[in-house]
Amino acid sequence: MSKPTKAELAKYKSILQSQLASLRGDVGSMRDEALRASDQDASVDHLADQGTDNYDQGFMLGLIENEEETIKLIEEALERIEGRGDWDFGTCPLCAEELEGQKKAPTKKAKGKAAEAWIPKARLEYLPWARYCVRHQEVEERNRESA
Ligand SMILES: [Zn+2]
Repeated sequence: MSKPTKAELAKYKSILQSQLASLRGDVGSMRDEALRASDQDASVDHLADQGTDNYDQGFMLGLIENEEETIKLIEEALERIEGRGDWDFGTCPLCAEELEGQKKAPTKKAKGKAAEAWIPKARLEYLPWARYCVRHQEVEERNRESA
């Protein structure tokens, strides 16, 4: 695990940009389809309230929601790559926080851990918009479920 090179950043950036473009296209056409399927008052909120008859629409709206979530994550990742994000692209802010905490009380164990705020490349290759390392992603998801 180490800082991504400029070439790697450029690669992630182009993956993110093309994912973003295709998701935006998807959401647009799914929304059109969901709305077309409805006779009247075609607002997304209204569709969501129509109940079990409209399973397909509900399903599609769920997909739209997921994709909108991913779009947001991708936009944030692009901001991080461009240096406008809340933290450095490719690092896990929660790992960084832990490392910060260790700095105040350095122990033998903490030494050599400095590189661990970097999210493993294998994960970034697969999910360049990942906000956290796998371990913290799981923690976050657990927190969200119990919230
Ligand atoms: Zn982490």
